[in-house]
Amino acid sequence: MGNVAIVTGGTRGIGEAISVHLKEMGMQVVANYAGNDERAKAFTEATGIPALKFDVADYDAVEDGIQKVEADFGPVSVLVNNAGITRDGVLAKMNCENWDAVLQTNLKSCYNTCHTVVPGMRERGFGRIINISSINGQQGQYGQVNYAAAKAGILGFTKALALETAKYGVTVNAIAPGYVDTDMVRAVPPEVLEKIIRKIPVGRLGNPDDIARAVAFLADERNSFMTGATLSINGGQFMAN
Ligand code: NDP
Repeated sequence: MGNVAIVTGGTRGIGEAISVHLKEMGMQVVANYAGNDERAKAFTEATGIPALKFDVADYDAVEDGIQKVEADFGPVSVLVNNAGITRDGVLAKMNCENWDAVLQTNLKSCYNTCHTVVPGMRERGFGRIINISSINGQQGQYGQVNYAAAKAGILGFTKALALETAKYGVTVNAIAPGYVDTDMVRAVPPEVLEKIIRKIPVGRLGNPDDIARAVAFLADERNSFMTGATLSINGGQFMAN
């Protein structure tokens, strides 16, 4: 059996495509999700990939979830921190709850999962960690101080952890997707989305496979020299890290 991989938020959207690509590489994949049981069931039926519900924002739940995966399938050597949410609003109207929810789910989740799996990866001398950031963490976005802060935080987290794990065979990289056609983007009002698409040089939204292919590249055992990097995959919308 190949490497054991956990993809957080791996049952729909970008995460679903990542789960499928990693399975196609021969990995034993487990897809985590938050609460949409029906969707998770349909995903498992369609792909054969087991789904496991736990809240990535909750340290104890993450620890229990990862222990369960390791008991069932063996040590986790590939981790994709993909789960994310938005709670948009301008700062003046953003309450603490929406700030905390976005920071906890998008950023603290990376601490929760990495703190749980990195010691084992270091001991075994191999690991691949891929963190999903966002173009809006690179360039900022009106109405998203919480999301932009969390996604920019992921980039700093990635670089710092990459330094700490480099000599143990564990690479840590980030991907900053532009706008990708998933439920998250379908929630954007159509007139706003139209304006966004006009700003994308390739003239279309990304699709989940555009991101998943890059995750597969970073997760490859042969890709051992690339660490602390950010791959921007955004149709040319923002050309800097
Ligand atoms: P979706 O909203 O389509 O899917 C989100 C996934 O994350 C679902 O599987 C959901 O589970 C899971 N999830 C949400 N909260 C939690 C939680 N607390 N614990 C465990 N799982 C959770 O998102 P996308 O596919 O659009 O986005 C995936 C990632 O890519 C996110 O981090 C997002 O910020 C980032 N991104 C997305 C872009 C886009 O344009 N779509 C652009 C840039 C970055 P459930 O189904 O149970 O709700």
